Amino acid sequence: MNPRFLAVNIDCNFDYSFETERLAAAGIELVPRKAVTEDEIIRACADADAVILEGAKTPMTARVIAALPRCQVIAKYAVGVDNIDVGAATAAGIVVANAADYCTEEVSDHAVALLLASARKVMSMDRFVRRGEWAGFTKAQPLRRVSQLTLGLVGLGRIARATARKMAGFQMRILAADPYVAGPTAEGGIEIVPLDQLLRESDLISIHVPLGAETRGLIGETAFRSMKPTAIVVNTSRGPVVDQEALIRALREKWIGGAALDVVAEEPLPASSPLRDFDQVILTPHTGADSVDSMKHVRRTVVESVSAALTGYWPPFPVNPKVAPRSGLKPWSEFRQP
Ligand code: NAD
Repeated sequence: MNPRFLAVNIDCNFDYSFETERLAAAGIELVPRKAVTEDEIIRACADADAVILEGAKTPMTARVIAALPRCQVIAKYAVGVDNIDVGAATAAGIVVANAADYCTEEVSDHAVALLLASARKVMSMDRFVRRGEWAGFTKAQPLRRVSQLTLGLVGLGRIARATARKMAGFQMRILAADPYVAGPTAEGGIEIVPLDQLLRESDLISIHVPLGAETRGLIGETAFRSMKPTAIVVNTSRGPVVDQEALIRALREKWIGGAALDVVAEEPLPASSPLRDFDQVILTPHTGADSVDSMKHVRRTVVESVSAALTGYWPPFPVNPKVAPRSGLKPWSEFRQP
């Protein structure tokens, strides 16, 4: 093979033979070069036509991006691109590509699982039974009929809509707050309302916004104080969207009824975190997206994104579609994977 392009993978977490083979067919050599710090990434990617990454913390800062002279595309095995300075990439003419739809089903399934487990207090009951306290369920009460509850979706993008579609079968009232979605929307009977109304009226609150300047700490002390004392907050988006100190106070001082978190401010959750001590909190280790199927899907999308961008086409999910690319790109719909 005489590759025309070089794609550098800077996270290198698994065996990339699938990607290597498929990219080679498009004339692209995939090289793993593990790089963690900004300086390491700059050195590793100096000759890269494409940069591929997985890590939620990999620092694709403005400084790193300014030092990528050949790069046409940064592709991430993820939906959230909060660790990539998308503004700097846009200014530099670099397309940022995510895998927007690879885990919509998995994360919405996970949100539904956390919502129902919280509403039915499944984890507390399980602990009572294991401790031999068969009648302990009385401590986990009161339970409410799910169809009598109101579900509030913070953000109404792909994952929230899939969550609403699945929860619609439980015949709850469903509210959503999303400043970028004009209401009312008829889809699944979702009522679009302002965030403060959603926080006041919802029994179950499920968060589905991207992490950014506008959403960091969006659910903080004021939000928690405005919720019902029985409200459950489910977060499958990004940890810092919730002000974790405020959440801990809200749980400790019983401003809210509980929480279910797939994501937390610091991951992995530190051993000393008080979140581990609350009976009314469910914790999962940022596995909302995980399944064999979503992994296959994300790998295929990353290959398509890099192959397309380097051979003259838009990737399927550009995060910065208004970028003026370093070389002209034809529509994604015309791309055929070699
Ligand atoms: P999406 O882009 O389809 O939807 C995000 C929605 O949030 C959009 O409708 C947007 O308008 C809305 N939004 C933006 N700012 C808002 C604000 N201030 N208030 C209310 N709404 C706002 O994204 P998605 O596919 O639904 O994913 C949502 C988030 O879930 C991702 O950004 C990612 O961080 C997270 N995620 C987590 C996992 C996991 O493993 N737990 C996996 C995938 C994605």
